[in-house]
Amino acid sequence: ALPGVDEVRIAQTSEKQGRRLIAVGSGKGGVGKSTLAANLAVALRRVGRNVGLIDADIYGPSQPRLMSAEGRRPTAEGQKLIPVQTDFGVPMLSMGQLLKPGQAVAWRGPMAGNALGQLIDADWGSTDLIIVDLPPGTGDVQLSMIQKHKPAGAVIISTPQDLALIDATRAIDLFNQSGVPIIGLVENMAGYVCPHCGEVSDPFGNGGAEAAAAAMGHPFLGRVPLDIAIRRASDAGHPPAAMDVAEGDAFRAIAAKLGD
Ligand code: ADP
Repeated sequence: ALPGVDEVRIAQTSEKQGRRLIAVGSGKGGVGKSTLAANLAVALRRVGRNVGLIDADIYGPSQPRLMSAEGRRPTAEGQKLIPVQTDFGVPMLSMGQLLKPGQAVAWRGPMAGNALGQLIDADWGSTDLIIVDLPPGTGDVQLSMIQKHKPAGAVIISTPQDLALIDATRAIDLFNQSGVPIIGLVENMAGYVCPHCGEVSDPFGNGGAEAAAAAMGHPFLGRVPLDIAIRRASDAGHPPAAMDVAEGDAFRAIAAKLGD
């Protein structure tokens, strides 16, 4: 049986040494954070990295769907969870797997923080890099991540328009104040290519995240176009970066900039 969220022990920090965490954050929901996290993980796996994926988005845990692992439940060895294997060679744990299907998330801060600890301190084996899909914004899970689990860095994703960027800037401030390096910003949903006439338009604008990165002195990691093929592949549980398709290119290029 799975240990209950309330029974979780906070594991020894020594166990975490040598395993790096990269947080993927955003100011708002719905900007493509989970899509980016899944595709970064599979892109890194494709180039031979021992990478795992944690879905810490308590409000909308979507990695089981994105990674075609719905219905796969993690097992446990004593108090330690054992990640589920996905078809893409990336072991994964999701907050959603700690909940019963359809169970509402009304956790108080400490419970959510403990659940994150349970995912991070799972039996990750030889995995030495874990991509963590954070909830949007600057709440309890982010604080727990920063204070207890010391990520090696954070990637922040935003859509190009001002309102999203203002919120993204708040998320960046939180990491900055806590001494977590900002690896860089990603701009999503710029440059929509009309499938009928081929004209490129920018429903949410274009270039805003790159300009914000420059203004804050952080690297700009790249742009992912608004592409119906990305949405379709994601809904079908096939992260495009895992496949030999053009819509995976942007994600692979961003993954290549994450360094060692
Ligand atoms: P978040 O994690 O920020 O809430 P998601 O990654 O769940 O956002 O993405 C929200 C929705 O937008 C999903 O349906 C996803 O497939 C879609 N989506 C994300 N990025 C793109 C893109 N570049 N082109 C088309 N659809 C996208």
